[in-house]
Amino acid sequence: CGIVGYLGEKNSKEILLSGLKELEYRGYDSAGIAVLQDGDFSSYKAIGKLVNLEEKTKDFVTDKFSIGIGHTRWATHGKPTELNAHPHLGESSYVVHNGIIENYAELKKELQESGVTFLSQTDTEVIVHQFEKNLKNTKNAFEAFKNTIKELQGAYAILLVYKGERESIFFAKNGSPMLVGVNKENEKYFASSDTPLIGHCTDVNYFEDGDYGYVTPNELVIFNSDDELQKPHFTKLSTNK
Ligand code: GLU
Repeated sequence: CGIVGYLGEKNSKEILLSGLKELEYRGYDSAGIAVLQDGDFSSYKAIGKLVNLEEKTKDFVTDKFSIGIGHTRWATHGKPTELNAHPHLGESSYVVHNGIIENYAELKKELQESGVTFLSQTDTEVIVHQFEKNLKNTKNAFEAFKNTIKELQGAYAILLVYKGERESIFFAKNGSPMLVGVNKENEKYFASSDTPLIGHCTDVNYFEDGDYGYVTPNELVIFNSDDELQKPHFTKLSTNK
């Protein structure tokens, strides 16, 4: 029941795991991360406590430029198994999601009919496959992400990374909390509550329902539910936990 994301030059695995620890009190049954390693994304998942995930990621070596997304899951669709833990992956992308995709059954049926194989029982997995389906109809990955978000009904905080754009994280928020923090080092931190960001950034933007966009090392691009480009509305993060 937590989400974190990181883009910058520190060790993404360590930042994601310590961020997830800050969200532990909210409860979860499994956890996972997808991180850039040797220029490509790889994912790690474990059921139970975060120490299990830590154990699995102990040989991780960070790249100089680092990107990652992480998740603690509170299962709503599908048992708490390693396969159902996030991130969920398609052929070229990874997603983490808090919330419920209400129309997942209908999207899943269409995707399966077009030949897509699902690995998990979650509602979340439709997001990566729908994104990759939409990618076939547009050359622009963000356009494909936007089209995907518009097809989803329900509550979500979503972070998605794509092998074709290894310097971006795509995000969307509707009904589940999420914010992004920035700092002078051009780092970007995402989380589902502000505690993981304390000590890392002073300026944070709490997303509104319907917001979606992307970050790169030099950009934070936010659109609202009417597809209007938004200026980030930064607030100062208190340094007291
Ligand atoms: N509905 C998703 C699942 O069951 C996400 C649950 C969550 O918010 O952790 O995997």
